[in-house]
Amino acid sequence: MLKDKIGLVLGVANKRSIAWACAEACMSQGANLAFTYQGERLERYLTKLTADLEDTLVIPCDVTNQSEVDAAFEAIDKKYGRLDFLIHSIAFAPREALDGEYLDTSREAFLTALEISAYSLPQVARSAAPLMQDGGSIVTMSYYGAEKVVENYNVMGVAKSALESSTRYLASDLGPKNIRVNAISAGPINTLSARGVKNMSGFLKHVEERAPLRRNIDAREVGNTAMFLVSDLSSGITGETIYVDCGFNIMGI
Ligand code: NDP
Repeated sequence: MLKDKIGLVLGVANKRSIAWACAEACMSQGANLAFTYQGERLERYLTKLTADLEDTLVIPCDVTNQSEVDAAFEAIDKKYGRLDFLIHSIAFAPREALDGEYLDTSREAFLTALEISAYSLPQVARSAAPLMQDGGSIVTMSYYGAEKVVENYNVMGVAKSALESSTRYLASDLGPKNIRVNAISAGPINTLSARGVKNMSGFLKHVEERAPLRRNIDAREVGNTAMFLVSDLSSGITGETIYVDCGFNIMGI
């Protein structure tokens, strides 16, 4: 389904990362992938994780460093000369902002969370679009805290609202170039980032009790949806937030 397609995956920290589940699903359909990492520690890990892949590219890309972002896309252009899809799976907020009341969010924590978790989407889309000459697909990762209050999720919920809104504005800007932009609103998964949110185990238990499917999602289910969204099977879908949450979001009282 993705044979001969070139994709870029941002946000693999380890095997449990949602980004890695997306990468595995896309590779299972024949995609060729490039990966970005943040920091030397992750370079070693990612290089090992991707050691058996053919024709891959592992490059640094801390989104707070514009010259690194520019260099990453130059490297992709140089190696492949084009890009068919991009999976944006990065977020960050200072730990102290993910505990207690949103009211107490510092200016610094707010700006950091919004910069890394939301601004980074238009930032990378701007660099990716010129490489998507035959059209393309961009997918990002959101969470239910974008639209409803989730205890302790705080500034990250506000960042996810901005991310989902960005998805719509980018879809409108890039649609005439046949570049689609969609978000996946994933149910909670126990990853490295998720552990930064206080009482993650409480979220997981709540979903298991309340979601129509009476279980939590598996990262592979997010990966499969991302694979669908970057493939031609979803050619008529853009600007959407698609839930992969075992139905949790539909429940009222
Ligand atoms: P991971 O910790 O595995 O992935 C988060 C990634 O973001 C890491 O690779 C991290 O790198 C990267 N990152 C942080 N800061 C920067 C930066 N400045 N520049 C570049 N990369 C950076 O967690 P997940 O897989 O859970 O998270 C992936 C996405 O999915 C996030 O957007 C998250 O909000 C979203 N999501 C997660 C859910 C969950 O329950 N796990 C539910 C719904 C959405 P590093 O480790 O070096 O900081």
